[in-house]
Amino acid sequence: MSAGDQGVTRRRLLGGLAATGATVATGAAAMPRSAVKSWDMRTGVLVIGSGAAGVSAAIEARRAGSNVMLIESLSQFGGSSAMSGGVVYAGGGTALQKALNVQDSVEQMYRFLTLAGTLHPPLEKIQLYCEGSAEHFDWLVEQGIPYTEKLTLAKGLPMGDESLYFSGTEQAWPARDLAQPAPRGHVPGVPGMNGGRRLMEALLSQAAALGVTMHSGVGAHHLVVENDGRVVGVIVTIAGERRAIAAQRGVVLACGGFIHNREMMRLYAPQLYECSVPWGNAGDLGEGINMGIAVGAAALRMNEGFAIVPIYPPESALSGIIVNASGQRFIPEDSYHGVLGDAIAYHQKGRAWLITDRDSSYAFHQDNFLPVAEASTIGDIAALLEFPKGALQQTVAYYNLHAANGEDPMFHKSGAYLRPLQGPPYKAWDLSTTQAFFPAHTFGGLHTSVDGEVLSSFGEVIPGLYAAGRNTAGIPTAPYIASGLSLGDCTFFGRRAGRAAAARGGMSG
Ligand SMILES: Cc1cc2nc3c(=O)[nH]c(=O)nc-3n(C[C@H](O)[C@H](O)[C@H](O)COP(=O)(O)OP(=O)(O)OC[C@H]3O[C@@H](n4cnc5c(N)ncnc54)[C@H](O)[C@@H]3O)c2cc1C
Repeated sequence: MSAGDQGVTRRRLLGGLAATGATVATGAAAMPRSAVKSWDMRTGVLVIGSGAAGVSAAIEARRAGSNVMLIESLSQFGGSSAMSGGVVYAGGGTALQKALNVQDSVEQMYRFLTLAGTLHPPLEKIQLYCEGSAEHFDWLVEQGIPYTEKLTLAKGLPMGDESLYFSGTEQAWPARDLAQPAPRGHVPGVPGMNGGRRLMEALLSQAAALGVTMHSGVGAHHLVVENDGRVVGVIVTIAGERRAIAAQRGVVLACGGFIHNREMMRLYAPQLYECSVPWGNAGDLGEGINMGIAVGAAALRMNEGFAIVPIYPPESALSGIIVNASGQRFIPEDSYHGVLGDAIAYHQKGRAWLITDRDSSYAFHQDNFLPVAEASTIGDIAALLEFPKGALQQTVAYYNLHAANGEDPMFHKSGAYLRPLQGPPYKAWDLSTTQAFFPAHTFGGLHTSVDGEVLSSFGEVIPGLYAAGRNTAGIPTAPYIASGLSLGDCTFFGRRAGRAAAARGGMSG
């Protein structure tokens, strides 16, 4: 592409970058339509990315009557979605909740999602999501995802075949005072960490059965834009050759997040950059986000993401206390580990320690984090960790005084885990972002309407361009208050994006 070719989109590119306040070499500048001599392939809706968002979009676009082509840059379909636990956050009275006599309502789910997490959450998306949640769960079942009528009350992703559990921070303070807790983590009823694979097998086989044309090993890198700003196709690479694909109705960007683009991580999400384990498949390079920015899309919440430190199971560890570099508690220890991870990564400069006594210590060797101090007194632990003089001793004395009466005046830890910390050996476990097993992935992405239309930094729809999943800024925000919000958002809003793209313009395709 010549420099002149790029000039047409330079205004849009600069507009998009200004919206994010950063300059990133995107490698994804838009291609003017005039530079495309002929199309090598044509389709109605072109979906880029084969994770939960892309495949849900493809299924619904096809059902809405459009020809649909789905391309995937890697050799295998499924994206991070296929690596995941497969948890979808759903509630308000899903068929599974009803079958298990779980009380829930749209209102309580909405209260939880809007009050327990970030400031200024995306209210319109959350409302639709809560209102449509029971129907959406039925849709997942219709696609062939297997769920068992089994509930577990244990904390953490079920490793058996249970399909319903408390996947978030609903029962911890302050969430439990803000909304009636209900188990809303819906996970395919397969043992082990195989839910995501099972979910994606079902969605991919639906897409194939419906006649979605699917190509792996096809990476998209430039959106093709008409003079009037419409997105009309994509330039891809197939076996080293550049090809142009026309999308008569629309292009759906569903390329996932950017956890493996280290340059973007450093610039946009420094707290996540520090986390020890970039979690996601190799395709999470931010290419879809950059393609969108290159045509003028706004990108939101680019610093936010999922940062977790999984201190449970076993739940016995929650009777320990977690302290910062000042030797002070800062969170109820029974918070969902996404909330805990967020507090450490974003609010404690990435440093924290779990202090255990004899009964709350891990019985077996931990791979996730190491004991960095062991002593017979709390004072010796404090000295070994070089905390400010007397701080940890004061923290423990105050905690013990109230825990003995079943109270935690500062953080209201649940009674099930609350007891004085007493009985050596005491141990300190390093929960820092760089030293512990501290997985992270991104939530920032393109600004979209509830129908997946990509919006510019002026709030205008970019015609012909849609996006879904972690390519967008959706319902998952920081702190991540429950497992399943990402896949829930991917599938729910992916469906809407696919339908909207298929309905666009009434063109044939
Ligand atoms: C181990 C693990 C467990 C998790 N468990 C859960 C869970 O239980 N519940 C939950 O809600 N979330 C979970 N998550 C997070 C969740 O998996 C992701 O946020 C979600 O899958 C993102 O889906 P997506 O469709 O947006 O992107 P992806 O599933 O990542 O799919 C995007 C696809 O686009 C492809 N692609 C990228 N660029 C291009 C390009 N230029 N051209 C063509 N193709 C491209 C990628 O290769 C990829 O296949 C987990 C994540 C991990 C890593």
